[in-house]
Amino acid sequence: MEANEIIRFENVKKIYTGLESKSKDIVALQNVNLSINKGEFVFVLGHSGAGKSTFLKLILREEVATQGRVIVNGRDLSKIRQREIPYLRRGLGVVFQDFRLIPNMTAYENVAFAMRVTNIPEKQIKRRVPYALNLVGLAGKARSLPQELSGGEQQRIALARAVVHSPPIIIADEPTGNIDPELSVEIMELLQAINSLGTTVVVVTHEHDLAARFHKRTITIDHGEVIDDGLTRREEEEAF
Ligand code: ADP
Repeated sequence: MEANEIIRFENVKKIYTGLESKSKDIVALQNVNLSINKGEFVFVLGHSGAGKSTFLKLILREEVATQGRVIVNGRDLSKIRQREIPYLRRGLGVVFQDFRLIPNMTAYENVAFAMRVTNIPEKQIKRRVPYALNLVGLAGKARSLPQELSGGEQQRIALARAVVHSPPIIIADEPTGNIDPELSVEIMELLQAINSLGTTVVVVTHEHDLAARFHKRTITIDHGEVIDDGLTRREEEEAF
């Protein structure tokens, strides 16, 4: 692994075996070779069923590759011990399509809770939570409950929660899937701002137009294989 690499897939194959269901084995990913450098902003684009979630689950070590190697933050995830998994996850901030905020906690508490569960000292929490809320432009909504916030605002709180412990990598799984198009741009701009502070950002989406708008590296997955890794086709056309 080169010094500036932060995520690396080497000849990765993921098969879901149909043992329990007696259904056929499904090849969710195969021949995946790629590397993402520290500080990059990358889209992972593909239709439903292409293998995007499987790609993320391998990075989060929710699934293990059937063949090949997945290396994240210098750790080979096929060799990692069960008790090391929490350390791996601490190096990752994750944003989900459905926000996953705790409904009876305020915005502040939702962000603080993410730090409390990892035993971070209260003094540090008191310093970091306002910083994170400020970063997403929601310092004024610290006392609001999720239900009192718009979808876009809820996703910004989720983003604050993902960045509050300064992970080197942010993974966003269809982050704009449940919010209005105008607010989607806002979320993407925030992710770009976080990226410009040095964090590696990986955004998974099925929305080609969203990826095309931001002129970033786009890894396209189709039927479990990487079919393109570069700018989107539309940008290439515009470049000529
Ligand atoms: P995407 O996120 O792009 O929609 P997925 O990674 O969820 O794609 O799925 C890729 C393929 O793997 C699909 O054919 C899907 O049905 C299959 N798949 C995903 N998860 C499982 C699982 N736990 N068991 C069996 N098949 C699965």
